[in-house]
Amino acid sequence: MARSVLVTGGNRGIGLAVARAFVENGDKVAVTHRDTPPPDGLFGVRCDVTDSGQVERAFKEVENAHGPVEVLVSNAGVTDDTLLLRMSEEKFTSVLDTNLTGAYRFARRAARGMLRARWGRVILMSSVAGMTGTAGQVNYAASKSGMVGMARSMARELGSWGVTVNVVAPGLVLTDMAEKLPEERREQMRGQIPLGRHGDPREVAAAVRWLASDEAGYVTGAVLPVDGGLGMGH
Ligand code: NDP
Repeated sequence: MARSVLVTGGNRGIGLAVARAFVENGDKVAVTHRDTPPPDGLFGVRCDVTDSGQVERAFKEVENAHGPVEVLVSNAGVTDDTLLLRMSEEKFTSVLDTNLTGAYRFARRAARGMLRARWGRVILMSSVAGMTGTAGQVNYAASKSGMVGMARSMARELGSWGVTVNVVAPGLVLTDMAEKLPEERREQMRGQIPLGRHGDPREVAAAVRWLASDEAGYVTGAVLPVDGGLGMGH
């Protein structure tokens, strides 16, 4: 049966590949978007994930169009890299606000309908950086490892209601975000990836789609790396 799926940051990059994978499945898919129009053929809700009022409005729009959200993919994320000594408090907290608090805002709101339905899937988009750390990404890595503790706590709270909560941790995937890294840094990372190449957004989407499937019904609180071996299981 077609499920109501919401993907934050589903207007481009990994999020768009995830949204398309659910469309292929026959699900009813909504994506958040901000300044740019939603991609062709996808139901878009305008939402900045740092604004609780906009989050509430986005859920109402999705609920009116597709019914309560049954699968939430919290994917919207930003980087704002610099070394610790140059990292202002604003740079730190703004990345946390989008990546971690944004995921909390969506998961909290989605949980309401999932508990009522006694079924739900929450998938949070973390990163290998959250497990291994990356020089220059104190803010980003903190936000991404924070997602693991958050997901596991939610998994414990919501499990008995049939709601699973899992984390996907991609490695280097060529999108606008990865393009922001200097080429030499990407080259250096490629050298450390056992599979010797960067990932494709569709490879991340496949993992997300599986975690949302009935087949993954006994998987919760897991971190699934999709990183070509870069983090070696972390
Ligand atoms: P992109 O930069 O290509 O896309 C980021 C997405 O997040 C866009 O849709 C963007 O929307 C959205 N977004 C950012 N801030 C907000 C906000 N405040 N409110 C609403 N939407 C927002 O990144 P990727 O596709 O590469 O990344 C997707 C996720 O995957 C991120 O969480 C990232 O950390 C994670 N990831 C990516 C990796 C990679 O190598 N690419 C590796 C590991 C993890 P808009 O178009 O409006 O800016």
